[in-house]
Amino acid sequence: MASPRDTLERTLHLETEQGYRNQAVMGGLDLFLEKWQREARAAQDPAVDGVLRCLSGYGNMDGATREAALQKARQLLDETEPPPMPSVAEPTAEASSEFSEPPTAEAAPSRRKPSIGLGAPVTELKGVGEVNAKRLERVGVHTIRDLLYHFPRRYDDYSRLTTIGKLEVDEEVTICGIVSRAKAARTRSGRPLFRVTLSDGTGSIDVTWFNQPHLARQIRPGREIVVSGTVDSYLGRPVFTSPEWEPLQRQLLHTGRLVPRYPLTDGLRMRWLRRLMRQTLDRWIPRITDPMPANLLERRGLVGLGQALDQIHFPKDERSLYRAKQRLCFDEFLLLQLGLLLRRRERLQKTGRALELPDGLLDSFQERLGFDLTTAQQRAIDEIVADLALERPMARLLQGDVGSGKTVVAAAAALVAVRNGLQVAVMAPTSILAEQLHDTLSAMLAPWADIRCELLIGGLPDEAKDVIRQDVASGAAQVVVGTHALIQAQVSFARLGLVVVDEQHRFGVAQRDALKAKGTYFEPHMLAMSATPIPRSLALTIYGDLDVTVLDEVPPNRQKVITAVRDNLARERIYVFIDGQIQAGHQVFVVCPLIEGDDDMDVTAAIEEHRRLQEEIFSRWRVGLLHGRMSAQDKEQIMTAFRDGAYDILVTTPVIEVGVDVPNATVMLIEDADRFGLAQLHQLRGRVGRGAAKSYCILMSNDPTETGRERLRLVEGTHDGFVLAEKDLEMRGPGDFLGVRQHGLPDLKVASLGDHETLQMAREEATALFEADPSLSAEEHQLLAASIRHFWRHTRREQ
Ligand code: ADP
Ligand code: MG
Repeated sequence: MASPRDTLERTLHLETEQGYRNQAVMGGLDLFLEKWQREARAAQDPAVDGVLRCLSGYGNMDGATREAALQKARQLLDETEPPPMPSVAEPTAEASSEFSEPPTAEAAPSRRKPSIGLGAPVTELKGVGEVNAKRLERVGVHTIRDLLYHFPRRYDDYSRLTTIGKLEVDEEVTICGIVSRAKAARTRSGRPLFRVTLSDGTGSIDVTWFNQPHLARQIRPGREIVVSGTVDSYLGRPVFTSPEWEPLQRQLLHTGRLVPRYPLTDGLRMRWLRRLMRQTLDRWIPRITDPMPANLLERRGLVGLGQALDQIHFPKDERSLYRAKQRLCFDEFLLLQLGLLLRRRERLQKTGRALELPDGLLDSFQERLGFDLTTAQQRAIDEIVADLALERPMARLLQGDVGSGKTVVAAAAALVAVRNGLQVAVMAPTSILAEQLHDTLSAMLAPWADIRCELLIGGLPDEAKDVIRQDVASGAAQVVVGTHALIQAQVSFARLGLVVVDEQHRFGVAQRDALKAKGTYFEPHMLAMSATPIPRSLALTIYGDLDVTVLDEVPPNRQKVITAVRDNLARERIYVFIDGQIQAGHQVFVVCPLIEGDDDMDVTAAIEEHRRLQEEIFSRWRVGLLHGRMSAQDKEQIMTAFRDGAYDILVTTPVIEVGVDVPNATVMLIEDADRFGLAQLHQLRGRVGRGAAKSYCILMSNDPTETGRERLRLVEGTHDGFVLAEKDLEMRGPGDFLGVRQHGLPDLKVASLGDHETLQMAREEATALFEADPSLSAEEHQLLAASIRHFWRHTRREQ
């Protein structure tokens, strides 16, 4: 039987589906709630009062208020755990001992502390007080569920068990022995050290720990302990220095297995976290109900959620770890895709304004361009015009390589909108890009003397901004190009009909929605543009809510950037070549990979490289520096300076990927090129070759492996970003691409570890589920629907 909570959730879902017409239940929501609250109170649902506060008087609210009220109520339901269903096992007396007030043996069930859910704060766990909760918060863990989903960053493989007699220096192993001697002492510099001798019948070995005086109380002679680590040598004999250890017991956490290593912060200790994790898994896994339909799991050979969570933390072996990751990754892809499909469905039910295409408008647009449209551009424009003609808001993504001519397509769409008496807002992520876009669009729309195309960016003088805002508000300016400045509260449109977002992945869903919300009477059409090539199979997963058009053709007059893979042996010659290019008046990009964590010591850091080039190699030229840790303002300023010729060389990190047209730049030198994705290299290469002069892309790589070289050679030979993106997906998995649309998407924890097959599987299952039950209202899909809501909760709040 469905619980009152389930019934309410389903009703609210249906009401949302039906567009807030108060018809989801007979007699309206107010009547329903009256009956519901009695049942819900009887079931001790903690959300009753909150829900009533949100929804009372629903029948008398107008559409927008209803929507807001419903959203709020659903959010509240997501955040308050429902009371336990009778079928869910109550924690046993033993299990409850981890709560702050363990029930006594004779406590009657009714006097028990109400059972808590996965959404409860971690302070409910034994051993987690305010201080540790604060520390966990800093790694993003607030609730018990968060803790279970705080996955290891990596594992130490201590599964190789051996005997002391067989130890070899530098091996990573585990041994088990009896403590025959133990001695606390100090090093010459006064550091505490603790040394024990371990024996196991095949030999004995000295083990030393520094700065851990408390060990003397834990490791006593006669005790049997397990030690894992890398074997060192001291005076020619094998020893262990500060290895992991624990007493020999049935279940090993820190030694003798694949040992998890978690992301930590100050004060959060690895061993403590492992113990907490083990305890929490043991107590909670039996209480987790798997939201995935059982037949799906069986059909696909996926492990259950409980097993997956257990094994991703404490894997039995590599195979088991793989299967755990596969399952969790499947979940993320499936929830992601289903969420997007539901969004898409909601959108298709909205009303938009149908636009007409005046006779001959596009013909005269093309005639005045001065070049022929590519077939791909033509097709894109046709698709867009067809979308605009419908009475529902367009949401189309236009994907095309740098230089494929997306702006022309946007201009055509803008023209159609303006001729229908509507305004167009075009948003770019930075001021320079907005300026650039404004220049191009104005030029293309110039033949229509009555169309005013304005630029609105933060850097303009206040009076200028005021004038433009007034013209936008009155409708005198039909097209306005700008940055985030467009979504500020002071900006209002007389009749916004089309929103264009360039480099759309740089904006969050919230920002895109804020711009769309400037439409007054109906939801504006939206055209999003992106130069990041996403493989087709992945595009369906991460852009499932949008219709996608691909510009898979570049205009014919484009030069191909000459690309070459080189190693350090060629460095001198390359610098001579660069010198020659600068003497000829050109400019050069040098790209270094980002520093990821501190273990990547060998990665050429942009800062150091900048210093080296300026001081040691190119002291007679002006070398600029631009990297990801600078403020947005500084970045823009340096980029503008480079465009205007203030630097000859710009040393940078991949932040310039989405960049600015610098037609004078002819060389792109990419250091440690093997560290980049192929599609990313291709995008970087697109920064040069934008002027008339011959241009070059040099991929520096000292990766000696044949596969490494093979990969880079693909970039030498291929100038199609989509082909390279497909190769990336095949060779490196989806990780490279998932960041592209991270804004506004749920936080993906394991998906990037997944492989092509799991992705495919999730897509097929999502499509099938959605086709069979588009609103996920069937009984057996309720848990899944709840999981989707939970997975998407933060993004929903953003909107
Ligand atoms: P992107 O897709 O990178 O935004 P743009 O729209 O900025 O590319 O176009 C790059 C340049 O190519 C512009 O100067 C534009 O005028 C030009 N262009 C666009 N389409 C064509 C075409 N079909 N033939 C020739 N040049 C074109
Ligand atoms: Mg562009």
